[in-house]
Amino acid sequence: MNNHTMEDLVSLCKRRGFIFQSNEIYGGLQGLYDYGPLGVELKNNLKSAWWKSMIYDREDVEGIDTSILTNPMVLKYSGHEETFSDPLIDCRDCNARWRADHISDNKCPGCGSSDLTDPRPFNLMFKTSVGPVEDGNSFAYLRPETAQNIFTNFKNVLDSTPHPLPFGIAQMGKAFRNEITPRNFIFRVREFEQMELEFFVKPGEDEEWHKKWIDIRIQWWQDQGIKRENLELYHVPSNELSHYSKATVDIMYKYPHGIEELEGIANRTDFDLGSHTKGQKDLNLTSNVMENTRSNAKLAIQDLETKEWVVPYVIEPSAGVDRGFLALLNDAYSVEELENGKERTVLALKPHISPIKVAVIPLKRNDKDIVAKSIELKNRLQRSLTGRVLLENTGNIGKSYRKHDEIGTPACITVDFQTLEDKTITVRDRDSMDQKRVNLEEVNAFLSENYSI
Ligand code: ATP
Repeated sequence: MNNHTMEDLVSLCKRRGFIFQSNEIYGGLQGLYDYGPLGVELKNNLKSAWWKSMIYDREDVEGIDTSILTNPMVLKYSGHEETFSDPLIDCRDCNARWRADHISDNKCPGCGSSDLTDPRPFNLMFKTSVGPVEDGNSFAYLRPETAQNIFTNFKNVLDSTPHPLPFGIAQMGKAFRNEITPRNFIFRVREFEQMELEFFVKPGEDEEWHKKWIDIRIQWWQDQGIKRENLELYHVPSNELSHYSKATVDIMYKYPHGIEELEGIANRTDFDLGSHTKGQKDLNLTSNVMENTRSNAKLAIQDLETKEWVVPYVIEPSAGVDRGFLALLNDAYSVEELENGKERTVLALKPHISPIKVAVIPLKRNDKDIVAKSIELKNRLQRSLTGRVLLENTGNIGKSYRKHDEIGTPACITVDFQTLEDKTITVRDRDSMDQKRVNLEEVNAFLSENYSI
């Protein structure tokens, strides 16, 4: 049975400690969520998988981690001050505010009134004051994308870790947007995380690399456990493109609330590096850059043969961590009918994404020897596995299995009286519910073979 709703996911997240409403005890704050004990594990696993595929598994990408507070100049010359806005419409009857593209038939989605204002641009960037005097002159923006400080560090990275073109710089981290209507749980929030790669290529090779990255990213989401039939490509029409983009293809996912963007893959041309570069006129820039930058850097690379300075084109796969989290959860969630007429909820997550890798369950909660053996095994596994191993000493095996099915633990290990006699344990598989007796000495090999953990 896979016809679940967003409410089913929200309820699981709260009940099991994946995601909570932020500031809940004070009534919350719209568009903000907190990740709980299991949520943080899953989220970190997703980010680690991205980091590994982008940096460790390639030879041509470096990673960085830059500041969130951003000098307004950066966002002026990136074009965000001028253009990073959504059209906003007010309802004069109920005073609700809507994004213009969320309104159909000229009616307020809240109260149905047609008494609406004309659309006006609303800048999505958060501002905050910097330093002790709040006089409005000294302020910074909270970054609306992680990309800009990748561009501003272009020269630093190249000078310290030289690479010929093509090469990339990757970053994961928080981004902030004052969304007019945050909604659909963690899908559209005001504080979220992005995983962004800026991949610098020779002008002229950009279209080929754009295609390559679309294929790589589609495959990557499948490797994380998303079914291909739940992904679609959307070629963004030219009138909807961001100010920096020559072409953008969005990877769309079938969320419970509809098909929406999971990741955008844009061809940002030489717009950003060009806009932040001193001496723009001496370079062969092709895009409509922001002119007269106050930056003091030349964000270009010298062709070793021709000695010409080239401002690379940029292909940017930009994925949302939170939207990825929601997609993984949705794809993995199902309620199964069992032979005995009962139901079980299962999160069929890939083991590398699962928040708990293995649960070790003592058969008897108060049996000293069984518990001691369980602790010993838990500690041993925790030392050798990447990710969390949990000691689940509730004394109720059935209940523990149900919990671990629901949170996506691929394997549960039960330590019982027989373990004390013959040094074997039972491994119970989440998906098949099969149980196998395995020698304690062979547990690691068994887990590695069957779950790649
Ligand atoms: P949308 O059209 O849905 O507002 P966008 O096109 O503005 O998204 P991008 O600027 O391409 O989004 O940002 C890259 C990625 O960052 C998106 O694909 C998405 O996964 C994530 N993202 C953007 N805005 C939000 C948000 N408000 N909440 C959660 N994730 C977001």
